[in-house]
Amino acid sequence: MTIESLSELIRKLVDVLLVWALFYFILKSLRKNMKMVMLFKGILIIALTKVLSSWLDLVTIGYFIDYVIEWAPLALIVIFQPEIRNALEQLGRAQFFRKKKSLSLSELDKSISEIVNAADYIRKMRMGALIVIERDNTLANYVEKAQKVYADISGPLLASIFFKNNPLHDGGVIIQGDKIVCAGAVFPTSDSIAISKRLGTRHRAALGIAERTDCVALVVSEETGRMSIAMNGELVYNLSLDEVKIRLMESLAPSGQILSNVKEGATNE
Ligand code: ATP
Ligand code: MG
Repeated sequence: MTIESLSELIRKLVDVLLVWALFYFILKSLRKNMKMVMLFKGILIIALTKVLSSWLDLVTIGYFIDYVIEWAPLALIVIFQPEIRNALEQLGRAQFFRKKKSLSLSELDKSISEIVNAADYIRKMRMGALIVIERDNTLANYVEKAQKVYADISGPLLASIFFKNNPLHDGGVIIQGDKIVCAGAVFPTSDSIAISKRLGTRHRAALGIAERTDCVALVVSEETGRMSIAMNGELVYNLSLDEVKIRLMESLAPSGQILSNVKEGATNE
């Protein structure tokens, strides 16, 4: 094999790999982002109408669809400006390629116990809380604008952060790995119509960040003492302490590594 043919082969391989990576990240965000799912449906409808209009020779609708297609790229840039910025920021931080330190099951179990104990205390004291746990997608741009903490995860610390009159109690806490990295974080609120009208901005902020990233957001309601979890673009409302523990364990444990006794331990408490 000559040097030229080898470099040609490598070039083609890199080309294919780049296309593959692009599709992988598009599909990954598609699965979790309601806005992307709706956009995908919209594109499908436009494509179907275009096919139908040329098939049935519908001139006016065909002209209209051509106009929509012509202006679509500009509209997409405007609609998805926050997502595009987020994606570029993630690319800039090389987050796609960096392997995060994953916690061992016992470390994770300990962290989750601290979080759940804090949530229990907070709901009994009728305080409110929003605890957002990072998974693969970075939350660095929310951390940047919040009050940095960088402390080990501890129930008493979480409870003190959300104590009424604490200057940091407003907004959410962000957890990365085994650290509480910041408090007072402000998240984008969801405009989903699926969420109950009785729920306010704290719940909408939890859902908002869970629509945009793959994080797990735990909410303790100040008004009702109820706990909810937002993840994968959905908010599950009014969970028991055991359900919170199981959901956190299932969503944060490395896939396939959940010990059945962890689950049993949670339900037998
Ligand atoms: P609760 O049931 O606890 O009252 P709620 O969903 O009704 O929750 P609100 O009463 O509207 O929410 O807001 C309560 C608190 O939620 C605020 O004081 C603030 O600490 C927090 N919060 C509101 N909006 C955001 C946001 N965008 N990001 C982070 N935290 C927020
Ligand atoms: Mg409220």
